[in-house]
Amino acid sequence: MSNCLFCKIRDGQIPARVVHRDDVCMAFEDINPQAPTHVVFIPLKHIATVNDIGLEDREAVGHLYTAAAKVAKERGHAERGYRLVMNCNADAGQTVFHIHLHLVAGRPMEWPPG
Ligand code: AMP
Ligand code: ZN
Repeated sequence: MSNCLFCKIRDGQIPARVVHRDDVCMAFEDINPQAPTHVVFIPLKHIATVNDIGLEDREAVGHLYTAAAKVAKERGHAERGYRLVMNCNADAGQTVFHIHLHLVAGRPMEWPPG
């Protein structure tokens, strides 16, 4: 999508600190990190919100989780743990409308979230 921030990062039109890329997804450091590790995983395909995930996207969405777990393990977070979050629309605080899985790790976290 032409006016999507994460599509522009995907296409190299906006710089990002890329930590992972394959044929289905990519990941980059969040510009406003909320923990020592805060990496955002996006499908290469533009999907605006979780509400827009189709059956044909199941493999891509699952792929975000396996990629995030790989990066979490590489960064030494597997044993202590980490949080994976995908916000949907206003009440959840979604600000970029290209679905993304947040990997947040490196400090204890509270539940429920605010
Ligand atoms: P959300 O609020 O769930 O939609 O998450 C959007 C995330 O994108 C936030 O954590 C932002 O800090 C992050 N973000 C916004 N712009 C950029 C950017 N140019 N590069 C990396 N992360 C960004
Ligand atoms: Zn997009």
